[in-house]
Amino acid sequence: MKTVRISSRFGRAAMFAAAMLALTGAARWGVTFAPYQTQQPGAIDRDAVYQVSTINALLQGLYDGFITFGELKQHGGFGLGTIQAADGEVMGIDGVYYQVTSDGVAHVIPDDRVTPFAAVTFFEPDLSFTLDGVESFAGLEKKIDEHLPTTNIFYAIKISGVFDYVRARSVPGQQKPYPPLTEVVKHQSEFEFDGAEGVMIGWRCPSYVKDLNVPGYHLHFLTAARDRGGHVLDARMNGVRVEIDFTLGFEMILPQSDEFYQASLAGDGLDEVERGKSTIRWYREYH
Ligand SMILES: [Zn+2]
Repeated sequence: MKTVRISSRFGRAAMFAAAMLALTGAARWGVTFAPYQTQQPGAIDRDAVYQVSTINALLQGLYDGFITFGELKQHGGFGLGTIQAADGEVMGIDGVYYQVTSDGVAHVIPDDRVTPFAAVTFFEPDLSFTLDGVESFAGLEKKIDEHLPTTNIFYAIKISGVFDYVRARSVPGQQKPYPPLTEVVKHQSEFEFDGAEGVMIGWRCPSYVKDLNVPGYHLHFLTAARDRGGHVLDARMNGVRVEIDFTLGFEMILPQSDEFYQASLAGDGLDEVERGKSTIRWYREYH
């Protein structure tokens, strides 16, 4: 059997070409991939998710930030999350982080503010295409999925253009004792955009992350003027540009706090399965 071996030293384009080759039937030729190349000690991995805390910690009401946005930028200028006290929705693009407060207004976040939850990277797209005929968030998920070689890795996703419709939300900042996020979203504000130019920023995570991050698609919207936005609940779009960064690394940093040490963050057996389901349902309907 002929073996095609492609090392990552040939670059991302070659890796992607190899992936496409494999997808188009070349797998039968015995295409194999070189091991993932780790970075030099101390170097930042530009092709990794850098995640602050876990989604279950956020769901439990652990809203105290412990990583500054200045530090976050060292690990990438693209991604999403929230800010101290869960005071709105956060999105990062082109190295600038924005907070959309519960009035729907976007503010540039100073480097010394802190985040309790975020997932960011350096956005260097491996794949791009035009997306047409999206009538719902579920339709968006389905149409993007058709372009992906696997659902088992992380994808950073950027969608740019004029959106026929976007429904987004944000939440008000909380005071201690912090309520769980399921309570917070009962007081969320929702915003509708018709024909707004802007960008959606976010992730498609594999289903196996369910206790750590949101499985499936999670997108935040920011207008082209970068003055309004929110967490995307629903959308319709035509002729928008999708760019996707295949992301193979995952780094997570956890809070060094009594709240986190004492928090109940994992279940087992059926309970765990049920929480996984409810997390997804919560995401689809409210988050
Ligand atoms: Zn969100």
